[in-house]
Parts: sequence; structure tokens; C-alpha cells
Amino acid sequence: MTFATLGLIEPLLRALETLGYQTPTPVQAQAIPAVLAGRDLMAAAQTGTGKTAGFAVPLLQLLTLEGPKVAANSARALILCPTRELAEQVHASVAEYAQNLPLTTYAVYGGVSINPQMMKLRKGVDILVATPGRLIDLFRQNALKLNQLQTLVLDEADRMLDLGFSEELANIYRMLPKKRQTLLFSATFSDEIRLLAGQMLNDPLTIEVSPRNVAANTVKQWVVPVDKKRKAELFVHLMRKGRWKQVLVFAKTRNGVDALVDKLQGLGINADGIHGDKPQATRQRALDRFKSSDVQILVATDVAARGLDIEDLPLVVNFDLPIVAEDYIHRIGRTGRAGNTGEAISLVCADEVNMLSAIEMLTRQTLTRHMEQDFEPEHRVPDTDASGQVVKKPKKPKKPKSSGGGGKRNLGKWVDSGEVTPAEPSIKPVRKVPVFNTGPRKKK
Ligand code: AMP
Repeated sequence: MTFATLGLIEPLLRALETLGYQTPTPVQAQAIPAVLAGRDLMAAAQTGTGKTAGFAVPLLQLLTLEGPKVAANSARALILCPTRELAEQVHASVAEYAQNLPLTTYAVYGGVSINPQMMKLRKGVDILVATPGRLIDLFRQNALKLNQLQTLVLDEADRMLDLGFSEELANIYRMLPKKRQTLLFSATFSDEIRLLAGQMLNDPLTIEVSPRNVAANTVKQWVVPVDKKRKAELFVHLMRKGRWKQVLVFAKTRNGVDALVDKLQGLGINADGIHGDKPQATRQRALDRFKSSDVQILVATDVAARGLDIEDLPLVVNFDLPIVAEDYIHRIGRTGRAGNTGEAISLVCADEVNMLSAIEMLTRQTLTRHMEQDFEPEHRVPDTDASGQVVKKPKKPKKPKSSGGGGKRNLGKWVDSGEVTPAEPSIKPVRKVPVFNTGPRKKK
């Protein structure tokens, strides 16, 4: 199969050739004809398998061949993304695909001045890429009208539809014309989100090019059990032992990111961090410097988990496991992209056993464990498997107490790591979802 057989017009074929795209990826092969036919879509495909072109390329064709010229302060297609960095990246890809077309594209997001964005929107843009908060601001300040909108795309759709964005999304939905094409793309869709998505779409086509919720099979994954307090030390040890060159590291909290970056920099390691508390310009600069290999270690919160395309990134390290199991798939999907191989290592302490179990259940695999010599944890990480079981080893018989404190402390440690039993509710590998009042949909 070629892009030409999918019915793409010559300027798009030329752009794809310039970019070195020879054959459509599976998600592109299915999505392109469906989008061209005007269908609503829910498309699930593994990380790094070309989803952006899967929606952007046919969208550009539709906008070229159909619909009126864009009016002032209007957009004809809207692509919503969960993070500013992803909005910037998607916009860059759209601009590349549109290089031979008479269409305009632009990205708007928060954390930077709104005035230049308002100026830019005056003439209208064909494709607007946006994060939800800034889009709403622009709309409320009358810098943007959405009555001309033909197509709405939710990139990382499950993230866009979960609770974190529910209010903003509900507001945006009220601003949109009822008659439109809606496209949802993500690597993961929980059952709740599927249900919700089903209500939002008009006679949707579901595209699923890989088994549900699996990480890209080009990523080799393993786990190193370790005590929480020794994670930083283990990271530095593994980094030196493995001569790691470029690593994206995920930590759970903003403080965790800062603490690890400080520690690494204190050791003379070329590290930087990104999280939501940093100014946007600093965030983008750190990411750009990491992409161009000027920074060796980038430590990030889940703000960097979704969609970012870092060419040939060899390694992702989960310094902490994510609280939501789906985020594990997205995090490790920053490596092993576009058919390349990659590696994902998770440093797991006893406290995180429930998260490990939820990840294994969601991805239907038991992650291989490697014990690192001299870092064997005092607090054992209980065994887990893909069934969601956390296996508690039988307790060793208690030694008779010689003094009041010692025995108790030992037991305390053991119980600490084994505290999580199958009877305890494990972390659900899904987020809660909002209910949208999308109103009655008119027939297209
Ligand atoms: P995405 O999943 O959209 O972020 O794409 C992942 C990577 O694959 C990006 O670097 C794209 O430029 C690249 N890519 C997308 N589609 C193709 C294709 N058909 N052939 C070769 N590379 C592609």
C-alpha cells in the first residue's frame, strides 16, 4: 500500500515524500480513508506509530478541497492537546505536512503572552492547535469564533476526556457547532472513556490497530526493585554502569523532579527538568536542548508523558511509577518510536507494588525484575503478575524477642513491604470520567 492508493492529493504526497514517509503505518492506512470520507473516528494505536499524520494529513486534504475560505478570527479545524509542548510539536508536524498547500496553521497555549496570539488569529487560521485553557480565553475575549469549525480532533483523547480537563472540555463543547466531524486519537482508551466517547461521536468508526492498551512492542521493559531512599543512588549507579547517553526520567511530583535534578547537577551530570511550575519558555528550552542532545538527562513529571516525539530516544526511566497505569504506556512510548527499539526501566519500591500490579494488569504482562547487586531492597517488593495479584510471601516465623524493640522493627519492615494484600483494592488502571452534556446531535 502507498499513500497514493489512499487517495491523497499530489501536494500532500510530495510533502510526505520529502519527509521520507514511504508507506502508511497501519493506523494511517485505516484512518486516512475514513477521515477523507467524513467519518467520526475513535482510533487507538500504539505510541509512536504515526497517529499525527493519521489525522492531520486527511484533514489538510479536506480543508483544501472542501468548505469556504476561513473567515476573520475563525478556525476551520481544531486540534486539542493536553500539554503545551505537545501542541507545539503537533503544530510543527501539521505545518510540515501542509508545506505545499495554501492553508494556514497556528498553535495557541498558555504560559505565554496572549496578545501575539490574538493578532495572529485576526485573519483566521485553517488549522488551530490548542490547549483547552488558552482556547477558552481567546474565545471569551472574542479573538476566536468557532462557528466555521468543520472538524474537531482530540489528540491523546483519553487524557482530554478525563476529569482533569472535564470542565474546560464541557465549555469548549458549548462553543462548537453541532454539525461537525470529530476525531479521537490515543494509544490508550479505558472502557469508561470508550463509553463517553461513543456518546460524543456520530456513527463513529472504531479503529484499533493493536491489542488494547499495550506498550509498543519495540520497547524492552524491566523493573529494578529498590528501597525508596536509595533510588537516586541506584539511578546514578545504573547510569554510569550502562553509560547512558540520553535518558528521559519520570518522577511523580514537581518537588521530586527538582530534587533529582539538583542531585544530578551536584554530581556534575548534565541534567535539566520540566514540570508545570516552570515558566513555559524554560520548559520548552529544556525539551529542545534535550531533543538536540545538549542535555543528557531530562527529568519530568507526566507533563512529558504524552505524545512527545524525541527522535531515537533510547531509554526511559520511571524513577517513580505513575499513579495512573495508562500513563506508564504513554511514558515508555517516548522511546521505541517509528519502528526503532528502546528500553524502559522502572525503579520500584515496596510502596509502589499496587501501581506495578495495575500496570501489569493493564498491559497484560508480568514485567521482568532485575535485582541490582548492592541495591537489594530491605523492604521487599511483593511478587506481582498480570492477573493483578500481589503475592504475599508467607511470613517467616517470628524470632523470640530478645529485647522489646528489635523484633518489632524487623516485622515492621517486612509488613511494610507486604502490607498490600490482594484483598486491598488495588489502584484502578483508569481515571474517573466526566459526563458531558453534549446536547442532541444534528444529523450530518
Ligand atoms: P507520531 O506517532 O505521530 O508522533 O509519529 C511518530 C514518528 O513516526 C514521528 O517521528 C513521525 O515523523 C514518524 N512517522 C509517522 N508516519 C510515518 C510514516 N508513514 N513513515 C515513516 N515515519 C513516519
